Formats: sequence, structure tokens, C-alpha cells
Amino acid sequence: MSANSSIAIIGAGLSGLACARALADCGLSSEIFDKARGPGGRLSSRQLPGAVVDLGAQYFTAREKRFASQVDAWCHEGLVAPWPQRLWRIDAEGWQLHQDAQRRYSAVPRMSALTRALSEGLTLHAQTRITGLEQCADGWWLADDKGHHYGPYMRVVITAPTPQALELIAPHDATLAADCRAVTQQPCWAGYALFDEPLPALPGVDADWQAAFVNVGPIGVVSRNDAKPGRQTQGESLTLLAGAAASADWLEDDADTVASRLFSAFASLCGQPLPTPRLLGAHRWRYAKPIGETTGPGYRLSTLGLALAGDAFRASRVEDAWLSGHDLGQALAVEIGQ
Ligand SMILES: Cc1cc2nc3c(=O)[nH]c(=O)nc-3n(C[C@H](O)[C@H](O)[C@H](O)COP(=O)(O)OP(=O)(O)OC[C@H]3O[C@@H](n4cnc5c(N)ncnc54)[C@H](O)[C@@H]3O)c2cc1C
Repeated sequence: MSANSSIAIIGAGLSGLACARALADCGLSSEIFDKARGPGGRLSSRQLPGAVVDLGAQYFTAREKRFASQVDAWCHEGLVAPWPQRLWRIDAEGWQLHQDAQRRYSAVPRMSALTRALSEGLTLHAQTRITGLEQCADGWWLADDKGHHYGPYMRVVITAPTPQALELIAPHDATLAADCRAVTQQPCWAGYALFDEPLPALPGVDADWQAAFVNVGPIGVVSRNDAKPGRQTQGESLTLLAGAAASADWLEDDADTVASRLFSAFASLCGQPLPTPRLLGAHRWRYAKPIGETTGPGYRLSTLGLALAGDAFRASRVEDAWLSGHDLGQALAVEIGQ
């Protein structure tokens, strides 16, 4: 491959895919690498016996006009739909209907369906963990953990969460390394509970509640996967996202213990016995939510041909990931002269 027009993107989360698609729209091809089995990153969903649960973002908002237009297009294509529309919250006063002006969306029929659709037609090397970069006379080369080498590339875009990006970038670019170090990543435990029977009615809560913000105890958000668009035929299946403090306190605990704690916390919020889950589990996101200074264009670009994108370089939402990757793709196309 000639290095003159070649671009490698590390990470097939939303930012990496948005970058690849923006490049493709300008006639530039790229190759994407991800350590996971498929695209998605923090928009991942897990297929469990009889149910699919979203383990990362449960929904997203569209605050900026450019992303809102994109979301409208995805709605039109049937890739996403408004959700949740019946959102509750629980705090010291008990359960209350949560109403605000914010429109929220979920992908159909699972969160990862969006990234799966965006990856269509792109070159994706899945299950390929990039462990190092090397700058050679003909361009950049990537090495993976199985000893394979890929290249040469004229540009390398890294969209991994900042601690993982730092490992790759630190030997080559002190400025981009400092940009990674400036971001702190909060963890998040995502529990799930599947049931063979419906949950009992919660006192004072409409039976068709879809999700809830929780402002007491260790849980931050509860969502009902079976109430999401395209999943109405699956049984009762909750995602229980731990709040920031509990996620940090429990970071090194084992998943079964955390899952039991989250379920017990939810049961006590319900104030009545719940059916025993037929399956209970939890997934640890070590780098769930970036916290840091967000200045500049929402991505980082160095003269060496290296670039960083991802939610961390704007804020911490799905919208930020898409805008970061999309804008970087357009900036690279201008730089390359397309
Ligand atoms: C539990 C949870 C709840 C959330 N809730 C919301 C919400 O309600 N609303 C909202 O808007 N946002 C939410 N978010 C945030 C949202 O999911 C992220 O902002 C967005 O998905 C980030 O996309 P990204 O492409 O920047 O990063 P990621 O999705 O993390 O993608 C990075 C990719 O890089 C890959 N990778 C890393 N290192 C390597 C390597 N060495 N080699 C190859 N591949 C590598 C990873 O496998 C991953 O696929 C939530 C996130 C979590 C975890």
C-alpha cells in the first residue's frame, strides 16, 4: 500500500467510525482496527439467552445542530428512534415522572446496531489490538499483539480512551501525550438482570416506565431493555448503571459481587420483593466517562501525521464522540487536499 493516501484508525467506536465515514465522503479510504470482536466500543450491547442488553450508553441526546441533523437522518433510516419517552427519577422524595425538554434516542434494535450499520462498507480489522506504532521512511506502521504489522500509513488516528491512547502516542508525540494525560477517566459498572416474569408494579409508578434516573444509593440509571424500540418481544431485562462513587469504590471487585449489590439496591428502591433474576451479571467499564479540559476543535492533530479523536476531546457523550470523529475526518481531508 502507498503511504500517500492511507489512513489507519485505531478504535471502531462511534468516533472512529464517524471519522472513517467523513473521510469516505471526501473520497479517502481508511482501515479501522479494534481489539473487540466487532464495532461499538462504549455503544456495546450483549446478546444473552433470550435478551439483548445495552451495557454502555442507554440513550443519547442531540444538542448541537449538526449532530441533530445526523440523528434525524438516522431516524429516517430506522437506525435510531426516540427513547426513553417515559422517564422517571427516584430521589429522597420517592419516584416521580421526570420531564424536561431534552429529546433522547436509542438505536434500533440495540445500541450496537448503529455502529454496525456505520461500519458497513468500511475496512475493519476486528480482534486486532494495536500495541505499538513505528515511524519508518515510508510512513507509519502499526503492530498488533499477535506480532502482525500493518502499513505504511500517512496518518494514524487514535480514538481509544485516553489512557489506552497514551500508551500508543507517548513514545512519539509529547504534546498529544500531554493532551491524553489532561483527561481523567471515571469508571462505570453496568449490571444486568434478566427475569422470566414481569416486574411487579412499582408503587406510584406507571407500569410503562422505561428508564429512571436514580439519585439515592449506588445506582445512577436503570433502564428496561425490553421497553426499547425493536425489543418488545424480549422478557424483562434491566440494565443497572452504578453511579460514579460506587463504580470507583467497587472498581476492583468481582463482577458477580457487583451485580448482586446492584440488584439488591434496585430491589430496595422498589420497596417490595422482586422475582429472582434468571441471569444476573455486570460489566466493568474502566474508562467510561472522560473528565477534563475541553478546548480547541474537539480533536488533536499533530504535524507528525498522528491524531487523537473521541468523546474525551469534547465532553463525555455520544454526540461528542460523533462530532469529534466527524470533524477530524473532514480536517484530515482538507489537510490531504481532497
Ligand atoms: C456505562 C456508560 C453509560 C453511558 N451513558 C451515556 C449516555 O447516557 N449518553 C451519552 O451520550 N453517552 C453515554 N456514554 C458515553 C458514550 O458511550 C461515549 O461517549 C461514546 O460511545 C464514546 O465513543 P468513542 O468512539 O469516543 O470511544 P469508544 O466507544 O470507547 O471507542 C474506542 C474503541 O477503541 C478500541 N480500542 C482501544 N484500545 C485499542 C487498541 N489498543 N487497539 C485496538 N482497538 C482499541 C476499543 O475497543 C473501542 O471500541 C456512556 C458510556 C458508558 C460506558
